[in-house]
Amino acid sequence: MKYYDKLIFELSKPGKTGYSLPAALAGGAAEALPAGLARGTALNLPEVSEIDVVRHYTNLSQMNFGVDTGFYPLGSCTMKYNPKINEEVAAMPGFTGLHPLQPAETVKGAQTVYDEMDKALAAITGMKHFTFLPCAGAHGELTGLMLMREYHMSRGDLARTKVIVPDSAHGTNPASAAVCGLEIVVVKSRENGLVDVESLKPLLGPDIAGIMMTNPNTLGLFERDIKEIAALVHECGGLLYYDGANMNPLLGVVRPGDMGFDIMHLNLHKTFSTPHGGGGPGSGPVGVAERIVPFLQIPRVSGFHGNFGIILRAYAYILMLGRENVKMAGKLATLGANYIKESLKDCYKLPIPTVCKHEFVFDGLINDGAREGVAGATTLDVAKRLLDYGFHAPTIYFPLLFHQAIMIEPTETESLDTLDSFIDVMRKIAEEAAADPQMLHSAPHNTPIGRPDETTAARQPILKYTA
Ligand SMILES: *Cc1c(COP(=O)(O)O)cnc(C)c1O
Repeated sequence: MKYYDKLIFELSKPGKTGYSLPAALAGGAAEALPAGLARGTALNLPEVSEIDVVRHYTNLSQMNFGVDTGFYPLGSCTMKYNPKINEEVAAMPGFTGLHPLQPAETVKGAQTVYDEMDKALAAITGMKHFTFLPCAGAHGELTGLMLMREYHMSRGDLARTKVIVPDSAHGTNPASAAVCGLEIVVVKSRENGLVDVESLKPLLGPDIAGIMMTNPNTLGLFERDIKEIAALVHECGGLLYYDGANMNPLLGVVRPGDMGFDIMHLNLHKTFSTPHGGGGPGSGPVGVAERIVPFLQIPRVSGFHGNFGIILRAYAYILMLGRENVKMAGKLATLGANYIKESLKDCYKLPIPTVCKHEFVFDGLINDGAREGVAGATTLDVAKRLLDYGFHAPTIYFPLLFHQAIMIEPTETESLDTLDSFIDVMRKIAEEAAADPQMLHSAPHNTPIGRPDETTAARQPILKYTA
């Protein structure tokens, strides 16, 4: 155990302090407080020196992995680089000093940011207007479904209580529909990973509020029948909801509004380069077609105007790219994904061999090293071994359509050199698996923690020090 693997409480020694002051200045604070305000007992704080604290937290931060430390090809999550100019803009005192209860006439600058973002996102997506209240993608889905319900109710169309969700959908789609009180009807995908129009037809009727779709879908495939699907759903009186969490590959190429979608959300924390996951709060603006605009202000899903600091960062990103480079982002992301896919398909099983968009799915190793009495290397083993080589693992075991799914999304922010080193390492791991799968079963070998019980770690995390 390295000394910095200890908790800060374990570094504590009675009498150590984090400051060094002449005795005349140190202490005495408690006596200066009015009677009754001072604590009766000492706080249970670790007793450590300043340098102990600095080293402890600096070393902890270096045990972490982020997009600032290495390649993070997490499919479905678009871990693109967060440009530092975003941070500079968001840190401008004119913005950080705002108070949400300030009189409206004193926040014209912030209002302009919202108006300009509304216009930019409308231009990118083909929607009419956006609300910036939702603070995450799933939050946007719930908002969008509430709008869908509101639209039907306003027309006295009360029987529409079901929403159709493809089997390839992100898990948040059925979850949001359930939270919104809608019943979920699953539509199957065909062998080629696309929604089966023939299976969809019999599901449509007067009880359908709408369909939720992701396009390109969670397998990174463009739903080529989207025009027909849109016509069928509209014909039955339903609306189309677009899950635009990963709109990256479509930027400047195709617009959900033109595909026939009525309501959608965007994840600014994926497509628009703002920090993501443990790294920062999210923002899931919801855009709507003209006929839904009157309902836009109805769902009050969060306080004030959403995560303004995140909206500012995304605004800086859009302005930094400009019209031309917004168009390049999606194309380069698509090129990078196809480059990796083609470079590795002789080592990893590629269940759907067509051109992909921003991401694609392998179904485990072709030669996993399995022999009589020797279990082959799994997708989990490959993911764990990648950590030894300094890469974050891709998304694994999702989507559920394949048993050994490895879902890779490079994003446009990665250089050819980075993609090539990732490809080299993935090939090397394939060789290791063929030669010695046992070695992979126990990977990673170089990280502070190897294979925690992930369910327990997620469901029953120990967040508080107990001696
Ligand atoms: C990430 C994601 C979501 C959910 O976004 P959150 O901000 O995590 O709530 C929804 N749909 C898809 C396709 C996603 O990739």
